Amino acid sequence: MTFDDFKLDDSLMEGLYSMGYKQPTPIQQQAIPVILDNKDLIACAQTGTGKTAAYLLPIINHILHAPTRHLNTLIIAPTRELVLQIDQQIDGMGYFCSVGSIAIYGGNDGIAWSNQKHALEEGVDIICATPGRLMALLQSGDINFEHLQHLVLDEADRMLDMGFFDDIKTIINYLPKKRQTIMFSATMPPKIRMLANQIANQPEQINIAISKPAAGIVQQAYVVYDNQKQALIKEILKNPDFQSVIIFSSTKDNVKLLEKELRLIDGSVKAFHSDLEQAEREEIMREFKGRRLRILIGTDILSRGIDVEGISLVVNYDAPGDPEDYIHRIGRTARASKAGVAITFINQRDQGKFSRIEDLMGIEVPKIALPAELGEGPKYDPEANKREFKKTGGGHGKKSFGGKGKSNFKGKPGGKPRR
Ligand code: AMP
Repeated sequence: MTFDDFKLDDSLMEGLYSMGYKQPTPIQQQAIPVILDNKDLIACAQTGTGKTAAYLLPIINHILHAPTRHLNTLIIAPTRELVLQIDQQIDGMGYFCSVGSIAIYGGNDGIAWSNQKHALEEGVDIICATPGRLMALLQSGDINFEHLQHLVLDEADRMLDMGFFDDIKTIINYLPKKRQTIMFSATMPPKIRMLANQIANQPEQINIAISKPAAGIVQQAYVVYDNQKQALIKEILKNPDFQSVIIFSSTKDNVKLLEKELRLIDGSVKAFHSDLEQAEREEIMREFKGRRLRILIGTDILSRGIDVEGISLVVNYDAPGDPEDYIHRIGRTARASKAGVAITFINQRDQGKFSRIEDLMGIEVPKIALPAELGEGPKYDPEANKREFKKTGGGHGKKSFGGKGKSNFKGKPGGKPRR
């Protein structure tokens, strides 16, 4: 199947190819025809499957063929980060067609408010919002949903985990009853099914199963305070069985810091990051493949596509953001049916995140006691982490909308959104 099979608008196809999409992913193959057909949809798919484009492409196509342009689509997503990612994808795909979107998320300063109001007054096709912020805007009466055609709930399970169930029900009360409802969720617990039954009309269902880690990987985790991580990694690396090691850290800066620190105990360590020249990166990979380098430290750019056999240990120095990243990272070990060990350090902040990864894989990763000389680690209580998240409103309200008072309008190249 190719994108041509969907008969999308030419301008949309141009945007798609400029983003480098050649083949539709499985979720796109299944979801795009259903949404083009105006049916409601409940899809079980994780981040990394191409789920965002799976709903954006058919929706933008509908917008391009709408007889008149009004606020057409509301996308609700749990966090500011996700809202921004979705908005960026609308920008990319809609680059050659004049589709306007606005991202609405946390922040309560006056500039943010006036930016949002200004954007809404000028008119947009798509609003992409976190539930908390959207509630505030709805109460101020600034959004007219009269002509809304599509509602998308993205990462619905996460929104419910974060305590947004009631907010979502309230928001839906503001929307026209006759609309297309599309729901994406990484998992399908009973509460999600219940919500789906209440808000969707005879929805089609699609289920894209998450990939499973290879059977030969021994997975373990340590629950740690951040200030215990360095001592712990040094302790683990004392084990001579681990002759070929990849360590994943969350940022380039952390990768560089960790390289310096580990060099104190083992000269055979190098950092792999985007500041290096291509030739340097290739040389590091050659050394690692040739077993002349024992320890490689990197960010997620290391996790995909690297095919080195016989890696004995993968360490997630920082827990990865989503299950697909976790599976890609630990999949660097135990390749070609060999055994391998994957160890994850879970600090307090990452407990809820790691428990979601476990939920999705359907397994519980054993938590190993810290070596006595490191002292006690924190208690493992991912539920407390989720409760805390809910109490503080998670990622909401910390930063202002749109950044530094800049209009967040998106639309045709260099232009404004149109109706
Ligand atoms: P998502 O699951 O929507 O978060 O998408 C994961 C990543 O895959 C994003 O960086 C997308 O830009 C990318 N992506 C989505 N669809 C395709 C495709 N058909 N071909 C290549 N990349 C894609």
